[in-house]
Amino acid sequence: MEVISLKKPNIVILGAGYGGMITASRLTKQLGHNEASITLVNKHDYHYQTTWLHEPAAGTLSPERTRMPINSVLDLNKIKFVKDIVVEIKRDEKKVVLENGELEYDYLVVGLGAEAETFGVPGVFEHAFSKWTVNGAREVKEHIEYMFAKYNNTPEKKDELLTFIVAGAGFTGIEFIGELSHRLPELCARYDVPREKVKMYVIEAAPTALPGFDPELVEYAMNLLESRGVEFKINCPIKEVTESGVLLASGDEIKAETIVWATGVRGSSIIEKSGFEAMRGRIKVDPDLRAPGHEDIFIIGDCALLINEEINRPYPPTAQIAMQMAEVCANNVKALIKNESLKTFKPDIKGTVASLGGKEAIGVVGARKLFGSSANFMKKMIDNRYLFLLGGPGLVLKRGKNPL
Ligand code: FAD
Ligand code: NAD
Repeated sequence: MEVISLKKPNIVILGAGYGGMITASRLTKQLGHNEASITLVNKHDYHYQTTWLHEPAAGTLSPERTRMPINSVLDLNKIKFVKDIVVEIKRDEKKVVLENGELEYDYLVVGLGAEAETFGVPGVFEHAFSKWTVNGAREVKEHIEYMFAKYNNTPEKKDELLTFIVAGAGFTGIEFIGELSHRLPELCARYDVPREKVKMYVIEAAPTALPGFDPELVEYAMNLLESRGVEFKINCPIKEVTESGVLLASGDEIKAETIVWATGVRGSSIIEKSGFEAMRGRIKVDPDLRAPGHEDIFIIGDCALLINEEINRPYPPTAQIAMQMAEVCANNVKALIKNESLKTFKPDIKGTVASLGGKEAIGVVGARKLFGSSANFMKKMIDNRYLFLLGGPGLVLKRGKNPL
């Protein structure tokens, strides 16, 4: 006699970022109420767009614009939301340990995002700003404004109060300094600080800014940022962050009260803590996005390591890939429940566009290079496209950016 289980499978999604939110939204559409019970766990009761955070960090956009209540985009009649912090995944027991409880799963989706990579440089967590989260961005913005306020209020008028260092000239570092350098005239006017007193450094270990990106666009970005007063120190690894600034591999020291860390990311520490085989917190996923040896665990977004076979190197972790993984992951979870065949994930890289503050940006989309306002238009459209995929035209109208 065939045994029919009446128990609905439990799907648990960890993390309400790009990957987690799209997975949750797709699963609620693909599975009926009676087919599965779906739970989403996240630290906060809001979702934020990590890709916008350089703006509130520099103070060019309100942090409120980068976040939205989860219940405003997901139908909580169809999905259970748990606001809690994931502590560990107990794979053998098919359980997730939270700070305030435990959850059992039949299928698990891990989308816990990334953490700052320091490559062993000491002093980063003690003396630099390294959290690309809503609260991390708020802290950077408030600190920058405090430095400006403090400068005229201290008799010594120390240079380091007005010295701003960005560690790493990857896309995060470049986008952040783009916003800060664009905002500088307003900050100087507001706090009565002479423009020439402010120093902005971008310090990069590799022989170029934005390593691997189109050289003409890199040059455009560097020229623009230099024209706003940014000084690049290229080929110049930071070897330590101290209370008073940074020590360079060359032996030089730059004194600064503000160091913004953007030297790359690793996956979530929960991955390593839970005993998965991982490289820098990222799991090399099977083609169907499951963790090797685990039929019931999917890994998406910045926690997943995916090799680009053409160059035999990992794809850079991006929101673009996280969202595409989420679509395939949702399909594959549904497929397991409905006994269908699983899809293979293949990223479809549409391009890369980076903002440089104001109406400036650079990018490559398909075979086209974009500069200035056309790249800026494209960047805003990309930001809006995500909102469209998550919540349709209504969400774009409510929370989108004006591309002009
Ligand atoms: P995230 O979107 O980071 O979401 C992870 C979620 O998990 C968060 O909600 C977090 O609160 C939650 N979480 C983490 N740990 C726990 C825990 N222990 N318990 C509970 N919840 C937890 N990529 C692009 O493609 N284009 C861009 O233009 C771009 N710009 C960027 C700009 C900046 C400033 C930064 C920092 C990154 C940018 N990226 C960009 C990269 C992109 O943001 C990430 O690749 C993307 O956010 C990864 O999505 P995710 O779903 O894996 O993680
Ligand atoms: P990244 O790895 O792209 O860049 C980090 C940079 O820091 C590298 O150029 C590296 O050489 C440098 N670095 C490392 N150690 C250093 C040291 N000790 N001293 C000085 N420099 C050092 O990381 P990121 O910029 O944080 O980006 C993280 C991910 O998010 C990437 O995949 C990136 O593509 C993506 N992202 C995309 C966009 C966009 O598409 N607009 C924007 C931001 C981030």
